[in-house]
Amino acid sequence: MANVVVIGAGLGGLPAAYELRHLLPKEHTVTLVSDKSEFTFIPGLIQVALNLKPLAHVQVGLAQLAQRHNLNWVSGQVTALAPSAQRLTVEGHGIIAYDYLLIATGASLALDLIPGLGPHGGYSHSVCTPDHALEARQAWLAFLENPGPIVVGAAPEAGCFGPAYEFALMADQELRRRGLRDQVPITYVTPEPYAGHLGVSGVNQARELTADLMQERGIEVIDNATIAAVETDAVTLADGRQLPFSYAMILPAFQGAQFIRAVPGLGDEKGFIPVLPTQRHPEFANIYAAGVSVKLTQPDVTPVPIGLPKSGQMAEAMATAAAHNIAVDLKAIKAKPQVPTLEALCFAEFGDTGIAYIAAPVLPDPKTGQRKRSYAVRGPWVVWVKAAFEEYFMLKIRFGVGMPWYERLGLRSLFGLQLLKDVSAPSQAVATDSESLAS
Ligand SMILES: Cc1cc2nc3c(=O)[nH]c(=O)nc-3n(C[C@H](O)[C@H](O)[C@H](O)COP(=O)(O)OP(=O)(O)OC[C@H]3O[C@@H](n4cnc5c(N)ncnc54)[C@H](O)[C@@H]3O)c2cc1C
Repeated sequence: MANVVVIGAGLGGLPAAYELRHLLPKEHTVTLVSDKSEFTFIPGLIQVALNLKPLAHVQVGLAQLAQRHNLNWVSGQVTALAPSAQRLTVEGHGIIAYDYLLIATGASLALDLIPGLGPHGGYSHSVCTPDHALEARQAWLAFLENPGPIVVGAAPEAGCFGPAYEFALMADQELRRRGLRDQVPITYVTPEPYAGHLGVSGVNQARELTADLMQERGIEVIDNATIAAVETDAVTLADGRQLPFSYAMILPAFQGAQFIRAVPGLGDEKGFIPVLPTQRHPEFANIYAAGVSVKLTQPDVTPVPIGLPKSGQMAEAMATAAAHNIAVDLKAIKAKPQVPTLEALCFAEFGDTGIAYIAAPVLPDPKTGQRKRSYAVRGPWVVWVKAAFEEYFMLKIRFGVGMPWYERLGLRSLFGLQLLKDVSAPSQAVATDSESLAS
């Protein structure tokens, strides 16, 4: 009788808990620990911030999901972990003992790296958490009454750029719809080496399509930029340039959760967790990690440092592999361990059009620098597919489904993506840091 504990009920953690519950016999317990009482479909938060949909549309209560799907739910923040004792401390709850642990705590936001970076006590907004999106929405509504320049962008070492493009281009569309666009210059400021890099270089057509769209919509791009400070009404760059704003949305750098940073040998200096291709920690055999909390190194050396984006689909694939491999370890299933291929598809919504970015895999082969496939395509259909995918995802979360075979089949037949493979299968894809650690 094992207790498998999953920390974090986001895009990786909740599907992993479902997958574990599905794979493990009833005598094993699956415990889900979350510092939030709702599951949130994070990609929907940009529309929430721009007042295009209510937050409730992208949330479901975890207590009710856990009860319906036989998960032992613990509400509270994990504040400490003792791998040798196999225990963790949950604020307001106490100690939990585990046999296996899956860490899927996503990103902790490094807001204090830049003076004045908001939202907590700063002057810019963010869309990274439900609270941030609500605060950003309140400020957006006030801004619409008194419009002025907008600055949208990302801090050095940000681990995700798609949401910043989406925010800039959706804001543009919304301002046009309201007849306000001519009063609002929009500037996109980014550490990326060029518009359309998005943290993943060399994706065919990504640069051309993204740069054309920014130009078409009259959005000024400042690339290779280091934001040094945010003041009440201006962003200051390291080269001294000042970008005045009436509204600013800046994505912060990402790091791992505080409790990870406090355990010697668990994570790197930023709190990201190294894993073997099976998602298992190289030192702590019963600890697995998935999603944004995993250490994946950006292979590009750029003038301003940037993180490597870990998409929702990558998070889910890592989490599914981890759940599968824990079930194999517990001898609940007879199967080979699985590894995520890190092949990624990302639908970015830009108002009346969108771009689908495909990088298979996200990390190119370290020897050849090549990917199996990569391309970007633009069209209004991307917006429809993204909306449909959100509905589908929320439905499967309600029904307690992880990453089912028909989803994998659909991605394979429509986009040629294979998300998971047996550990013994030859793979160019699993070129993570973990391989060097493992060897
Ligand atoms: C605004 C935005 C838009 C995005 N849009 C897209 C998109 O269009 N497509 C795409 O593929 N990806 C998108 N992404 C990326 C995607 O959201 C992430 O890849 C995905 O959420 C990662 O899943 P995760 O499980 O690692 O982390 P999360 O989904 O962030 O979940 C982590 C969970 O752990 C909880 N947690 C953290 N610390 C603790 C603790 N100490 N104790 C207990 N619980 C804790 C958090 O509260 C959270 O619920 C977007 C990201 C952002 C910020």
